[in-house]
Amino acid sequence: MTARVLVVDDLLPNVKLLEAKLRAEYFEVVTALSGQEAIEAARDHQPDIVLLDVMMPGMDGFATCRALKEDGATCHIPVVMVTALDQQADRLAGLTAGADDFLTKPVQDVALFARVRSLTRLKQMTDELRHRHAQGTELGVITPAALDELGDEDVRVMVITDEAEIEGLACGVAELPTTCEFDYVSDGRAALATVREDPPGLILVDLGMESYDPLRLCSAVRSFEDSRMVPILAIARSVDTKKLVRALDMGVNDYIMRPLDPQECAARIRTQLKRLRYIENLRASFHETLELAVTDQLTGLYNRRYLATQLPRMMKDARRNHRPLSLMILDIDHFKQVNDTYGHEVGDAVLKETARRLHLSVRGVDLACRYGGEEFVIVMPETDDNFAQIVAERVRESVARDSVLLDDGREVPVTTSIGVSSLAVDDFEETPQSLLKAADDALYRAKEEGRNRVVMRAA
Ligand code: GH3
Ligand code: MG
Ligand code: MG
Repeated sequence: MTARVLVVDDLLPNVKLLEAKLRAEYFEVVTALSGQEAIEAARDHQPDIVLLDVMMPGMDGFATCRALKEDGATCHIPVVMVTALDQQADRLAGLTAGADDFLTKPVQDVALFARVRSLTRLKQMTDELRHRHAQGTELGVITPAALDELGDEDVRVMVITDEAEIEGLACGVAELPTTCEFDYVSDGRAALATVREDPPGLILVDLGMESYDPLRLCSAVRSFEDSRMVPILAIARSVDTKKLVRALDMGVNDYIMRPLDPQECAARIRTQLKRLRYIENLRASFHETLELAVTDQLTGLYNRRYLATQLPRMMKDARRNHRPLSLMILDIDHFKQVNDTYGHEVGDAVLKETARRLHLSVRGVDLACRYGGEEFVIVMPETDDNFAQIVAERVRESVARDSVLLDDGREVPVTTSIGVSSLAVDDFEETPQSLLKAADDALYRAKEEGRNRVVMRAA
């Protein structure tokens, strides 16, 4: 995994040391010697992570962190504060400033790479989602929300260890808005069975456990479909370094060193829960909103807005592959009379049933959408004008053949008029607008010529 790291420290030797370590592991490194420089570098270079020194003259690390987190262009970039050893107060201040994690000076390699890897891995995942989210926003359908704050829900935390209780774990976490319910499990097999059936929100694995191989536990959790995304924190002692490195390679998200510092526990747990929540929220809101936004609520077909985004793309594909493409516009004949005679509700039922018949009479690759009140558009890739005419005739027939049967047994005869236009192979003049206009003109003639018929675009 390659990632871009922004190293910030007012002392050049410190910057050079971290830079050398990171470059040796093939990270790309950008450096800054002050808070102000760091803010500019973060905006310009969009790093995957910022390693930020606390003590700097002028703008210190806390102020810099706050500024990064308040700027929409940089707020999603994880920040790791580099603090002097045992500065409890600094950690708290860092958390308040929005930092995602801490490293203590002198920086140990395992800790450095663990934090950089875990945070950049998560960032790259959330970037992909942010990217899709942005596309949704472009469609005008998703309002970006503040997704990454922790809520006050309950989270089940499974602690897999031989010990009855791990000291220091619960007391720091009590400060978080989220309530953690700790569930201690000492039987590795039973733990995996539970994870598989009903995955917890977070898993802590004690690397010092002897009754079951903790690394096997970690890799099993990562391999189950439903727990792939569940964050895992390892609890390690300084003698477990080898195991720890392997655990981190397996996808364990982070670790906490014994003896546990309550504030550090809370910070690490908070980071993992926050990220998980961010990913889940983004995913859910993306799917829901996008589906709502591209679907017509009455008929379940795609809506006009979706057609507007897809037709240009489909035409581009057709040109690139030197293939034809056709579309038809359908309009229900004398639909106003249906409303007038039977009422609006029956009108709606007729629209739904017509949409269902359209949907059934076209292929999966065709795009059927409700274009307006009682008008529909079907775009057919890989379809020339001759074949489009045959399909349009089939669609017309499938609507007209049987009357629409109402719940009360009454029958409503329905017919449609259809206009068809095609994008010829290697035609580069046609635009989405001109193609739709041509079909609409043809539809107009179908109406004039007596309705319930298909008319092709004039030569
Ligand atoms: P033509 O054969 O020339 O197309 O005649 P028409 O009556 O179908 O055309 P017109 O455009 O005059 O009327 C369309 C009607 O469709 C008017 C409008 O009230 C109705 N309509 C549009 N949307 C809906 C809807 O969602 N539900 C119902 N029930 N009616 C709708
Ligand atoms: Mg109409
Ligand atoms: Mg009509």
